[in-house]
This record gives sequence, C-alpha cells and structure tokens, in this order.
Amino acid sequence: MDNFQALVLNKIDEQTNLNVKQLTIDDLPKGEVTIKVAYSSVNYKDGLVGIQNQLVESYPLIPGIDLSGTVMESTDTRYKEGDEVIVTSYKLGTGHSGGFSEVARVPGEWVVPLPEGLSLKEAMILGTAGLTAALSVAKLEAAGLKPEDGPVLVAGATGGVGSIAVNILADRGYEVVASTGKADQEAYLKQLGAKEVIHRNEIVATDAQPARKKRWAAAVDPVGGKTLEYILTTLQYGGSVATCGLAGGVEVATTVIPFISRSINWLGIDSVMYPMDKRLEAWKLLSDNMKPTALNNEMVNEVSLTDLPEILGDILEGKVRGRTLVKL
Ligand code: NDP
Repeated sequence: MDNFQALVLNKIDEQTNLNVKQLTIDDLPKGEVTIKVAYSSVNYKDGLVGIQNQLVESYPLIPGIDLSGTVMESTDTRYKEGDEVIVTSYKLGTGHSGGFSEVARVPGEWVVPLPEGLSLKEAMILGTAGLTAALSVAKLEAAGLKPEDGPVLVAGATGGVGSIAVNILADRGYEVVASTGKADQEAYLKQLGAKEVIHRNEIVATDAQPARKKRWAAAVDPVGGKTLEYILTTLQYGGSVATCGLAGGVEVATTVIPFISRSINWLGIDSVMYPMDKRLEAWKLLSDNMKPTALNNEMVNEVSLTDLPEILGDILEGKVRGRTLVKL
C-alpha cells in the first residue's frame, strides 16, 4: 500500500485545518507495528482533539484514539503479518497519529491481540467507550455491588460509554435507570435494557434540594459536574459511583458528609494508562462474560473518513447516540 487515505489535523500560521489527505508510509510516526486499519470509532476525546485542538501534542496529527486491524509488518517479535489486533489509549490520536487512517504505525507495547470471541468490527463498536464501561462495571462489582442491591443509575445514557454501560449492567441482571437529555430516546434505552428512563434535569444538584432521597445502589457517571454532585448525595448506604467522564463539567462541590455518614465509594476510572496485564483481562471480559448483547444493532452508526469532521463537532454537543464506527 504505497498511498493511503487519512484524516489529518494540521496547523499552519496559527490556523488549524482538518482534511482527508493522501499519505505514504513515511508520513506515519515511528513504531514497531504497522497495521492495515479495518475500523476505528468516534469518542468524545476525538472531538476535543479534532475540533477544539485540546490534548494535541504536535502537528500534523491523524486523530482517532481507537483502531482495530491486521498487522502488515512488525519488528516486534510478538506480532507477525496477518495478526488481528486492537490499539487504544496511551498517546494514540493525541501525541501519536491514530486510527482515522487506512494505515497506522504504533509502538508494540500498545498492541492488544484481538481476543477470541470478538470480530475487528465488534472491537471498535466497543472501543475506548466499551473498555471504559467495562472497567466501570468491574470496579463497582469489586466494591461489592450485586444485582439485588437496588437500582443502578447510568448518566449520559445515550452516549458511547453510557449506552454500553446500560447494556452490560442490564445483561448482568441489574435494574438500570438511564438518565438522558434526549427525551425522544426512551425506546432506544429500553431496548438496551434500561428498566426506567429519566430526564437528565432530574439528576442535577441544585441548592433547593439539600435533603434528597437515597435512591441508588450505584452509578456509572460519564457526565461529572452537577450530575455527580447529585449522585454523591443520593447513593444508598455503602453505594458506589464510578466517575469516568466530564461531558457535563469538571468541577464537583461536595462535603465529607456522604462519605462519613453513608460510607459511599467514589471510584475513579482511567482507560488511558490502565496497565497492560489488566487491560488484556478487560478485553477478555468484553469478549465473553461482559460482551454486550446489543453490540450489533441500533447502538451503531457506521461512517467514513469524510463524514468525520461533522461528527466530531456533534459529539462535543452531546448530539451523537451510541457508538459511531468508522470503516476504513
Ligand atoms: P458521548 O458524547 O458519546 O457521550 C456523552 C453523553 O453525555 C452524551 O451523549 C449526553 O448523553 C451526555 N451529555 C453531553 N453533554 C452533557 C451536558 N452538558 N450535561 C449533561 N450530560 C451531557 O461521549 P463518550 O461516551 O465517548 O465519553 C463520555 C465521557 O467519558 C467524556 O467526558 C469522555 O471524555 C469520558 N471518557 C473517559 C474515559 C476514561 O478513561 N476515563 C474513556 C472514555 C471516555 P444524554 O444526551 O443521553 O444525556
């Protein structure tokens, strides 16, 4: 493959531009493993990179924090031509050119062999969002959560992390309450397994409600801000929240009271630097015990490289539903 297409973010005279370009292998950064990319996917972070130019370490950069594909060439002896692999996290798509490209070249230590039980396509329907949802559910369960404990809240439920978290939790027998700002998406969330759908305005902290009902056994929260403030004041005794995102804000006002009077757990989730040995276990879980049953249906919207600039804008505005798969 002498020439291939990629979405390139460049900056010239303080002006950034994002365009599909024809590249050659020499345009890619150094790395031990060269991959013919089959699929990528769109995550919130790709919007931050491609539209707001946050987290970009140098230009030009091919964005795309996720990819799956087939090894073309490798100087890392763990991989050989024809191997099917997944690459997510680390500096992919921020400090090192990523998945919005027909070919990628990456360090060998970032590569995850595609686990048995997942196709290259399914791996990218999951992508970083799926990994993050799985890490969130696994950490809640490690803190003691069981289906009989009561309702589990998923905030930002129609988003990528949210949709997969709803489906994984429902598959595992939890009573899932999905919160969304998209009032017309109740049927979608119920198809994923939500028992109840509430509007996100119901779960925003306001000074007018200091004493709230203790409602949730646990929560998965990709939203943060006032939503997380609300969650901290409404977890049941011993309940846990997995904080995994900031789509609604980064600042959270709290006191020590819920921690020392209700013994709640505030659990942090990071997928980017998650250690490789545990990462392999998480992908294994996603390929069998935690593989979402709704993976190949209405959760997925498939697009091409040329559609991406518009979609990267949409995801920052909270307009995207489920997972956006990029076919290369
Ligand atoms: P999506 O855009 O797909 O999902 C975010 C969802 O949050 C939206 O669909 C919307 O859902 C809701 N939302 C958006 N804006 C607001 C707002 N202002 N107030 C309240 N709710 C809002 O993004 P992803 O699923 O890709 O990522 C979600 C978050 O998780 C991001 O902040 C991302 O950076 C973070 N993340 C963190 C990771 C980690 O390693 N910790 C890894 C992956 C993602 P609805 O309309 O249904 O309410």
